[in-house]
Amino acid sequence: MNFELTPEQAQIRAVAREFAEAELGEKIAPYDERHEFPREIVAKLGPLGFMGVLVPPEYGGAGLDYVSYALIVEELNRGDASVGITMWAHNSLCANHIAMFGSKAQKEKYLPRLASGEALGAWGLTEPGSGSDAAAMRTRAVRDEGEWVLNGTKAFITNASVGAIAVVMAITDPPKRQKGISAFILEKGMPGFGVGQRYRKLGLHASDTAELVFDGARAPAANLLGDLNMGFVNTMQVLEGGRIAMAAMAVGIAQAALDQAIKYMKQRTAFGQTLAEFNGLQGMVADLATEIEAARLLTLRAAYLKDAGQPVKHTAAMAKLFASEVAMKAATKAVQIHGGAGYITDFPVERIFRDAKLTEIGEGTSEVQRLVIAREILQLK
Ligand SMILES: Cc1cc2nc3c(=O)[nH]c(=O)nc-3n(C[C@H](O)[C@H](O)[C@H](O)COP(=O)(O)OP(=O)(O)OC[C@H]3O[C@@H](n4cnc5c(N)ncnc54)[C@H](O)[C@@H]3O)c2cc1C
Repeated sequence: MNFELTPEQAQIRAVAREFAEAELGEKIAPYDERHEFPREIVAKLGPLGFMGVLVPPEYGGAGLDYVSYALIVEELNRGDASVGITMWAHNSLCANHIAMFGSKAQKEKYLPRLASGEALGAWGLTEPGSGSDAAAMRTRAVRDEGEWVLNGTKAFITNASVGAIAVVMAITDPPKRQKGISAFILEKGMPGFGVGQRYRKLGLHASDTAELVFDGARAPAANLLGDLNMGFVNTMQVLEGGRIAMAAMAVGIAQAALDQAIKYMKQRTAFGQTLAEFNGLQGMVADLATEIEAARLLTLRAAYLKDAGQPVKHTAAMAKLFASEVAMKAATKAVQIHGGAGYITDFPVERIFRDAKLTEIGEGTSEVQRLVIAREILQLK
C-alpha cells in the first residue's frame, strides 16, 4: 500500500489550494449574499486547467487522473462550495459524459470549448416528477426529418442558465424504461430550448440552479450522445465518477468547517481562557478531524480504484455517503463551537452550514447510497 501522492498530484493540490485561498472564501461571500453567479471568478478556472480536468489533452483538457481531480475538487470546495459545485457539474457530468461516450466529431466540437472554460456545461437528468427514480422521467425525444425533437422539463439543474452546452437524457423508447432512454447534446440557441425558473436555495447561493425547458426543442441527429437507448446505462457510469467527486466536495466543505472552528476557538475567550482550552470542544474537533481524515481516505481510495480501472460502484457510494454525512456533522459542530456567532451571516460557518446539506442530496441521496451499498453487499439485483 502506498498513501503518498505523486509529486504531480501534490503540485496540483498546491495550485488548487493557492487559488482557493486567493480567490474564493470571503471573496465569494458578497455573491452568496446577492444570490449572484461569480462569472469573473469562475472564468479564472479555465486557464488553470480546472474546467477540463478529465478531458484528454488532444481535446484541450488537462487529462488528469481521478485522484488529482478529487484533490482539486476538495480544495476548491474548501474555498467555496458554490464555485465547487459549478466546476463539479461542468467536469464530472457534462464534459465527462461527452468525453466518455461522445463520437470523435462530438468531442472535437464540444470538448475544447468546455475544457477552456469558454462554454460552461450543464447535465440534466432530474425532472419535477423524478429524481431518485430517474428512469421515471417524462421528457421525450422523437425523430423528425433528420432531427431530434424534445419535449419536457429538467429540474434542479446546476449551470442551467449560465451554461452554453447541456447533456440531457430523454425517453426514446417508452415501453423499455431504463433501456429506452438516450442522451443528447443541446446548445443554447437551438430552437425550442430554454431556461425555466431559477431556484432560490437554502445554500450554494452563488451557484446557478434552474430548470431546462424543451418546448419542441430541435437538435440535429448528430447530437445523439452515445448509442440510441443507452443513455441511462451510460448515465450510471457517469454518476459513478461523479459520486467520487461529490465525496471530495463534501470533504472540502467539512475541512472548511473545521478550519473555521479552529480559528474561532483560538480567538474567542470565555471564563478567562480561549475556547481551545475547553475539553468538551477539544473532543469535538478531535472527532471531526478524525472523521474528515477517514472521509478523505475513502474518497481518495475510490478515486485510486477508478484510476486503476477497477469497479467502484459501491466504493464510490460509500465515500459519498460517509463524506457527505461528515460534512453535515462538521458544519453543525462548527456552528455550535461559534455559539451565537455561528448563527449570523458575519461568520463564514453560517454559509458552510447551509452549503453542506446539498452533499447529502445531490448525486443520489444518502438513502440511495445506502441502497446501492446494501444491494452490493447482499448481492441483490
Ligand atoms: C442544488 C442542487 C443541484 C442539483 N444539480 C443537479 C444537476 O446538475 N443535474 C441533475 O440532473 N440533477 C441535479 N440535482 C437534483 C438531485 O440530483 C436530486 O434532487 C436528487 O437526486 C434527489 O432527487 P429528488 O429531489 O427528486 O428527491 P426524491 O427522489 O423525491 O426523494 C425524496 C426522499 O425520498 C427518499 N427516497 C427516494 N427513493 C428512495 C428509496 N428507494 N429508498 C429510500 N428512500 C428513498 C430520498 O432519499 C429522499 O429523502 C440537483 C439538486 C440540487 C438541490
